[in-house]
Amino acid sequence: MRMSRMYLPTLKENPAEAEIPSHQLMLRAGMMRSLTAGIYTYLPLGYRVIRKIENIVREAMDESGAQELLMPVVQNAELWKESGRWDKFGPLMIKFQDRKGRDYCLGPTHEEVITALVRNEIRSYKDMPLNLYQIQTKVRDEIRPRFGVIRGREFIMKDAYSFDADYEGLDKSYQAMYDAYTKAFADCGLDVKAVEADNGAMGGEGSHEFMVIADVGEDHVAFCNKCDYAANIEKAAAGYKKAVQEESLKDIEKVYTPKQKTIDEISSFLNIDKAKTIKSLAFLVDGEPVLVLLCGNDQLNEVKLLNYLNGEEIVQVEDEEFEKYFNSTPGFIAPVGMKKGVKILADLRVKDIVNGVTGANETDYHLINVNPERDFTADDYLDLRVVQNGDLCPVCDGRLELKSGIEVGHIFKLGTKYSESLGATYLDENGKEQLIIMGSYGIGISRLVAAAIEQHHDEKGIIWPKAIAPYQVIILALGNEEELIRVSEKIYDELSKKGIETLLDDRDERPGVKFNDADLIGIPLRITIGQKSLKNKIVEARVRRTGDEIEIPLENAIERILEVLDNIE
Ligand code: ATP
Ligand code: MG
Repeated sequence: MRMSRMYLPTLKENPAEAEIPSHQLMLRAGMMRSLTAGIYTYLPLGYRVIRKIENIVREAMDESGAQELLMPVVQNAELWKESGRWDKFGPLMIKFQDRKGRDYCLGPTHEEVITALVRNEIRSYKDMPLNLYQIQTKVRDEIRPRFGVIRGREFIMKDAYSFDADYEGLDKSYQAMYDAYTKAFADCGLDVKAVEADNGAMGGEGSHEFMVIADVGEDHVAFCNKCDYAANIEKAAAGYKKAVQEESLKDIEKVYTPKQKTIDEISSFLNIDKAKTIKSLAFLVDGEPVLVLLCGNDQLNEVKLLNYLNGEEIVQVEDEEFEKYFNSTPGFIAPVGMKKGVKILADLRVKDIVNGVTGANETDYHLINVNPERDFTADDYLDLRVVQNGDLCPVCDGRLELKSGIEVGHIFKLGTKYSESLGATYLDENGKEQLIIMGSYGIGISRLVAAAIEQHHDEKGIIWPKAIAPYQVIILALGNEEELIRVSEKIYDELSKKGIETLLDDRDERPGVKFNDADLIGIPLRITIGQKSLKNKIVEARVRRTGDEIEIPLENAIERILEVLDNIE
C-alpha cells in the first residue's frame, strides 16, 4: 500500500477522551474513530489487525473441529423470555419493537439463538459432539463504556457453543476450547494467562478466563508465587491454616462505645487490633436475613456468599429494617444473642479470634472478650473473604499475588441450563430422551486489539507482534529524487510480490514525520532509503521492537530483508 493513497489519519497529540495507552494509540495511529459513546468505526489500519486476529482465532477453532456459522444480531423476545434472561439481562440489553409492536433485542450473546437452533436439529446422541461458532458483532449497553474498544457497547466477539450427550463429552469439548484458545493467543504473539473463574450469571459448573496482565485491567487476578494456581479474585479461594492461640479466654463484657460504628472507629476507640474485631454484615439474600461475620480487616466476597447459599440476589439491609429482621441496630449488630432464624455465616478466620470485639445489638454498646462458639454459634464457617496480596495459596504453601488483567476470553461449562429452559433434548442409545449438555466459549476480538497494544507499546507508539501487525514492513522513501524513488518502488514491488504486506511511505512529508508515523503505527520492520544510503549502495533496516539497526547492501536487499523479517517475533 502506498501511503500517499492510504486513508490513515494519524494524530500528533493524545485525544482528551482517551485515558489509557491503547485507547490513545488506536486513535493516534488512525486505527479507529468513535461514532458515539462505546461505538466505533474501524479504519483500514485497525480493521486489518482485527482481520488478522479473526483469522488466527478462526484457524485455531477450525483445527479443534468447531464449525463456523453466522447467527442473527436481531433476536426476538420470546426466546429470551423462555430462557428467563429477558428480564435478567435487564438494561444491559438494547431492546426495541418492530412495526407490529413485537419486542426484540440486539444480541448481547447467543446461547438462546443457538439452543433454539439445535433443539430442532439434534435428534440423537449420534449427532454429537458438535461445536458451532461465529465471529460477529455483539451489543451490550454497558453502564460505563470506557477505555475505547476494551469496554465498548458494540464489539466483535468470537462465540462458540458445544453440544454433548454426557458430561465426559463436555469435559473433552471444554478442554479442546481451552487448548484452541491457548494456541490462538500464542499465535497472536500475546502473553495470556488462563485463570479459574466464577460461572456467575451464565450458570453451570466450571469456567476459565483468559487474561492479559496489564495495569489498566479492570479484572483482578490472584496468582500463587509457588504453584500454578491462578484465579479471578471473584473466584480465588483463600488458603487457611489454623492459627495457634496462646491467649486464654476472658469473660465477656459490655462496654460503652458512643457513636463508634465502623471497624476503624471501634478499633481505635478501644485501642485494639482490627484483626480482633468481628465485622458483622447484615444482608437479605433472596429476601432471607443473613448475618455474615468477617475478621475486621477482611472484605466480603459476595460471589462466595451467593454460591454457598445458591442465591440470586444479595441486598444490604436498610437502617430501618435492622429491628424487623435482626432485632438489632445498625452499627452495633452482632452474632451474640442474635434473633432466632437468622442464618449466621462466618469466615474461617473468625473462628480463630480469641477475646474479640463485636457490637452488642444495642445502640452505643459493644462487647469485648467475645469468643466464637462460646458466646455465639455460626451456622457454618467457610471461606467468604476477598483474597489479599500475601494470603496463603489454597493449593500449596505459597503466597497469593494480586495483579490486574484484561479479560480477553472466557470459557464456561454450562451443563443443562439452556437445554433445560429451552427444551433441547436428544435420544440416547436406549431411545430415552435426555437433555443436551452445553458449553459456551467467547473471545473478545476487538478488545484483544487494545489488550495487545497494552502489552506491546512504548512512548513512541505501538509495537505489533508480527502475527497481528497490519503490515510487516514499511519503506520510508526520504526524498523525491528519481533514483531514490526507483529503488524504493523496486523494493516495494518485490516484497509485495513475495507476499510480504508492505507499506511504502511515498508521501511528500519531512523525514521526521515519516519516522514518527512509522514508530506510531508499530510496523515490525522499517526500511529507510535516503540519498546518503544510496550513495553507499545500502538501505537501512530497523527493527521496531528492539531498535536494532542493520545496513543492508542494495545488491541482495530483498533476500536480506526477508531474513531479518524472519527473525522478528
Ligand atoms: P466483562 O466482565 O469484561 O464485562 P463478560 O464476562 O461480561 O465481560 P463474556 O460474556 O464472558 O464477557 O464475553 C466474552 C468475551 O467478550 C469477554 O471475555 C471479553 O473479552 C469480550 N467482551 C465482553 N464484553 C465486552 C465489551 N463491552 N467490550 C468489548 N469486549 C467485551
Ligand atoms: Mg466473562
